[in-house]
Amino acid sequence: MALLQISEPGQAPDPHQRRIGIGIDLGTTHSLVAAVRHGVAECLPDEQGRVILPSVVRYLEGGGRQIGLDALASQVDDPLNTIASVKRLMGRGLADVKAQLPYELIDKPGMVAIRTRAGEKSPVEVSAEILATLRYRAEDSFNADIDGAVITVPAYFDEAQRQATKDAAQLAGLNVLRLINEPTAAAIAYGLDHQSEGLFAVYDLGGGTFDISILRLTRGVFEVVATGGDSALGGDDYDRAIADWLLAHNGVAAAAVASLSASARAQLHRQARQAKETLSTQDSVALDVVLDGRPLSAKLDRTTLAQVTAALTDRTLSAVRRALRDAQLGKDEIQGVVMVGGSTRMPVVQEAVRAFFGREPLTNLNPDEVVALGAALSAHQLGGNRGGDDLLLLDVIPLSLGIETMGGLVERIVPRNQTIPTAMAQDFTTYKDGQTALALHVLQGERDLVADCRSLARFELRGIPPMAAGAARIRVSFTVDADGLLTVSAREQLSGVEAQIDVKPSYGLADEDIARMLQESFSTAQQDIQARALAEAQVDADRMLLATQSALDLDSELLAQDERLRIDALMAALRQVRPAGDAAAIEAATQSLAHGTEAFAAMRMNKGIQQALAGKNIATI
Ligand code: ADP
Ligand code: MG
Repeated sequence: MALLQISEPGQAPDPHQRRIGIGIDLGTTHSLVAAVRHGVAECLPDEQGRVILPSVVRYLEGGGRQIGLDALASQVDDPLNTIASVKRLMGRGLADVKAQLPYELIDKPGMVAIRTRAGEKSPVEVSAEILATLRYRAEDSFNADIDGAVITVPAYFDEAQRQATKDAAQLAGLNVLRLINEPTAAAIAYGLDHQSEGLFAVYDLGGGTFDISILRLTRGVFEVVATGGDSALGGDDYDRAIADWLLAHNGVAAAAVASLSASARAQLHRQARQAKETLSTQDSVALDVVLDGRPLSAKLDRTTLAQVTAALTDRTLSAVRRALRDAQLGKDEIQGVVMVGGSTRMPVVQEAVRAFFGREPLTNLNPDEVVALGAALSAHQLGGNRGGDDLLLLDVIPLSLGIETMGGLVERIVPRNQTIPTAMAQDFTTYKDGQTALALHVLQGERDLVADCRSLARFELRGIPPMAAGAARIRVSFTVDADGLLTVSAREQLSGVEAQIDVKPSYGLADEDIARMLQESFSTAQQDIQARALAEAQVDADRMLLATQSALDLDSELLAQDERLRIDALMAALRQVRPAGDAAAIEAATQSLAHGTEAFAAMRMNKGIQQALAGKNIATI
């Protein structure tokens, strides 16, 4: 599959070469596809005008499949062959799967599989069915082939889950332009990438999950500085709280739910959900259900809803507080709060978020669609359709990449927050005389010890000609493509022997591991900021010294002796503090030099003007 071309900034692509890029939100319960048409991002509907596709695939007798609403409708009758929430299984081993799912999982090396009447299905295959359905929808809608897709993934997805998502897209015949983080897509949908910098929170309350992400925007690049949430908290819990309240209101013990028939329970749940959704636009709603012959009724108003669900909303805010703490940020530093997920339509949720941050959250886009819309904008831009001088959106590597060296230490080759795509290399050598092979161990993490980092892959470089220890030159190159997927190669420079590996990480890093690794990387963030400030101050100092020196080389005759001595002294002072590692001192000395040379700069400018004017009469100027 050919890659899409990206036009140079400022150059609009040839209109005949207009590329169709789509954005896909591959969600746990719902999926959507969107595209930019006539300059506006919009979700693409199916033939019945519905934009939301339930992320459910049912394998039928005789080889057929149902995807979406039809499949959802038979979930109760055919649970073993109706696969919902498959996103929770992507890139996961059996031990990592915590969700209770009504179908049968099979333990497989790497990733679980699902036993269905159509045989064993990998989560990648099931996801591919959903993606292909959306691809056909887009093709019908444009009446043309689709050139590429941007697919969103949760910010906390590790390499294994991202690789599985990419595999699913390829299986569905999609050319993946890029995987982007869901919160990043939501921020793009709100145009936050058009600001030059800022800190943003993305609050995503869906059907079964809650995610909070803190993003930092610097020069058009979003970086995820913290993620958090609860993988078992969502709109379904609000439904359950309403159902429990309805039972209690009618004098039925909550425990009695267990004795209800499956269809009565499903009906109770459906009614509760409907009531909840109605209360997003009305002040009160009447509930009337007959469960196994027993009639229940009640009038539910917003105040009561707020009371019975307050504990749930509070749990989301606790997670927000934790994420802010991880990022070492105060809530007043957040410049915008983006609301994502159907459950953020609830006024009680919006109010709680507003009160917490002390600012109006962004809610004017449809919270179901916002992630897909942002993905569509990103796909459109990557396809080279957006002229003007917009910055290309870049993602960054969340955790550093490196290899193991002697002593169980990690040598970092690609630092965290490096924008991608990127390629970086470093030379290594052998440890023993006559060593002909090298074991390479690829790691990800922020810590210095191998034991504290995550092992991604191992491979060997063989056939190195025997040499004295330290004589071989082995260049290890890391290439990270636009989706954050990694290839590592090692090449002995004298003999040219080479080995490489595409890092398909051992699937199945547990959520706690990811949280822990991120946590550890956040705790080094403060040091990173200091290091960056120092490097920037040093670069500025060097630039100032160089500029002053070259001005002196050209025009020192303009200066009186004492002026010259003063400038020399300021330069000497800056050269002296530069290596000391104190960013503030370097900045101060740079400023002094800049001030101290202002008069000199003015003299040089006058001289330049006089030279330019020399020999010209008034008429030619
Ligand atoms: P997910 O991201 O988990 O796939 P969604 O973002 O689509 O889920 O959110 C689905 C949830 O949003 C469901 O619990 C649904 O009841 C809830 N929801 C949808 N519309 C409304 C509404 N108008 N008011 C309250 N909740 C709603
Ligand atoms: Mg969602």
